Amino acid sequence: MESGLYVVATPIGNLEDISRRALATLGAVDMIAAEDTRHSQRLLQHYAIDTPLMAYHDHSDDRAVAKILATLARGGSVALVSDAGTPLVSDPGYRLVRAVQDQGHPVHPLPGPCAAIAALSAAGLPTDRFLFEGFLPAREGARNNRLARLAREPATLVFYEAPHRLTESLAAMVECLGPQREAVLARELSKAFETVKRDSLEGLHQLVQADSNQRRGEIVLLVAGWRESGQEFSEELAALLRRLARELPAKTAAAVVAEWSGVRKKVLYDYLLAHRES
Ligand code: SAM
Repeated sequence: MESGLYVVATPIGNLEDISRRALATLGAVDMIAAEDTRHSQRLLQHYAIDTPLMAYHDHSDDRAVAKILATLARGGSVALVSDAGTPLVSDPGYRLVRAVQDQGHPVHPLPGPCAAIAALSAAGLPTDRFLFEGFLPAREGARNNRLARLAREPATLVFYEAPHRLTESLAAMVECLGPQREAVLARELSKAFETVKRDSLEGLHQLVQADSNQRRGEIVLLVAGWRESGQEFSEELAALLRRLARELPAKTAAAVVAEWSGVRKKVLYDYLLAHRES
């Protein structure tokens, strides 16, 4: 086969979701660089592939990159795989791909499974424009800042989410993006407990609070992009208003925000009545 680095997408759940070309490539290369060799070994065993494996991570020491470059320099070929899906999508490979290109070797992508794309394809949200945000920052302040910056982004937003952070992240999204914004919880795609649920952010938040099964497994969260809603004030102001209304009577919260922002008190009060449950 032609010398070069082959970036090979592997299944995100169902082992049948691998292409014939991916299997042929994994069987033909001189070496497979894997995020976790034990994890990838299971896939290779399933398909009776016995190509040697080596560990590669973006913070591997330079010896891993040097070993791969030496193989390519001899005219050999190397495949890069991650634990699941497409390498470099919230997964290692970026440093390696650049190093290989910088040495003048070809890099060939072998397209295949990717949780973000699978989720988008079944979400029922606009896909003409989407913004892949990967994992939100774990710390509350950084996460809320990121969400506040996304509040007026018109593209569909795609997040990867860890089960233990799901409830917290949905609560933050309700606060920063608005309770009525449409969103999709896509869990365990291509696996036994696959679930795709579309609802408002508030509805999804209530769902995951009420049913711990909805917080299990691997999760993609998608949120519809910002649309002009006819609301006479910004989502940031709405978030402030909702937050104040948790501490003060609705009339007082509306009056404080009206004085501060110049928006009519009645408009703010009506908004609070309409969003009373949240
Ligand atoms: N490279 C992978 C890809 O192409 O999707 C993503 C790797 S990232 C480290 C792992 C995250 O992807 C999980 O935490 C989850 O958010 C998402 N994910 C992976 N497999 C999934 C699945 N079967 N269903 C839903 N989300 C999945």
